[in-house]
Amino acid sequence: MGIVIKKASRISELPPYLFAEIDRRKRDALGRGVDLIDLGIGDPDIPTPPVIVEKLIESASKPVNHRYPNSLGMAEFRDAVANWYQRRFNVKLDAGKEVVSLIGSKEGIGNMAVAFVEPGDIVLVASPCYPVYHIGTAFNGGKIYFLPLKKQNQFLPDLDSIPAEVAKQAKLLWINYPNNPTAAVADKEFFKKVVDFANKNNVIICHDAAYTEMGYDGYRPMSFLEVDGAKEVAIEFHSLSKTFNMTGWRIGMAVGNADLVGGLAQAKSNLDSGIFQAVQEAGIEALKLGDSIVEPSRAIYQERRDILVDGLRTAGLECEKPRATFYVWVAAPKGLSSADFTTKLLEEAGVVTTPGNGFGAAGEGYVRFTVCVSKERLKEVAERIRRVKL
Ligand SMILES: *Cc1c(COP(=O)(O)O)cnc(C)c1O
Repeated sequence: MGIVIKKASRISELPPYLFAEIDRRKRDALGRGVDLIDLGIGDPDIPTPPVIVEKLIESASKPVNHRYPNSLGMAEFRDAVANWYQRRFNVKLDAGKEVVSLIGSKEGIGNMAVAFVEPGDIVLVASPCYPVYHIGTAFNGGKIYFLPLKKQNQFLPDLDSIPAEVAKQAKLLWINYPNNPTAAVADKEFFKKVVDFANKNNVIICHDAAYTEMGYDGYRPMSFLEVDGAKEVAIEFHSLSKTFNMTGWRIGMAVGNADLVGGLAQAKSNLDSGIFQAVQEAGIEALKLGDSIVEPSRAIYQERRDILVDGLRTAGLECEKPRATFYVWVAAPKGLSSADFTTKLLEEAGVVTTPGNGFGAAGEGYVRFTVCVSKERLKEVAERIRRVKL
């Protein structure tokens, strides 16, 4: 007999997976024996620093770490986060009330809507973007209002363009600098405007700061919380994933306003049971060592960025040299859509990239490259693209 299985509409009504076509072409090419170079995924190829791995091994062997952790994070981990924010950004945090651990920042970003979004609430999302901001909103019945990131505005959202009635009804705003996928950065001026916007319209600010440690040529991106008044209106999401090449470990944090952190913590504590303590102890070690273990990968990414950008420009493509992140946001040549250009790169150069519209309609006309492969492979990318007729 069996039963009729019907997915919840929040799942069945998800937009079609834009990368499915790319995945199919990728598999076809691999099947034909093509030597693909994959610049599609934003996942560091550089291993986690060995000292952190050693700390995990030591911590994993302690029985005290084998039991349920606290959902909000060990006091020692939250202290390590507060100390790192103080050293790195000169931001003071109360580790007891203004810091919560996350099972990767993705988890917290998704649960933010569980804690704060009522069905029908408007959530402002700068786009193209990391999809979890609007998927989390949609799963919880929120209405999404996208703020397009345009080149003429340095890929910063134009807050003045938001209709007054939308701004008034908005509950949350999601922003992310340094930005994935555009690689744009924000200055203090812009962050100040965001704080003013929040106060004027009573909007919660959610800043995703995943890439603050991937800044180049001496540039050190700032925390949103460095701006006066930010802690009254904002929560910031950060992660050990990109900073310490720890994407597989699942450890991150949310910091900032105590009511926002507390609300997220309350939602989380009803849904998950925290991060394996051995991973938290390894995370504490990473935060303590800080820049001394980040600098080597920063230098590698910077060199790769130069090779890729120089190579793409020589091939006749238009792109800025990013000041941060491990992405390069490249305009498709005239007459080609994001999908056309991605397909051409895959079919004619064996280079996998991500179509910009996969991150939102406003990403149309662009393609995202990552620098998560070796410099030798990036030189090869440039040579291959130079041979493609664009
Ligand atoms: C990678 C990424 C994340 C997720 O990081 P985790 O901590 O591994 O979940 C969040 N935001 C952006 C913009 C990212 O690119």
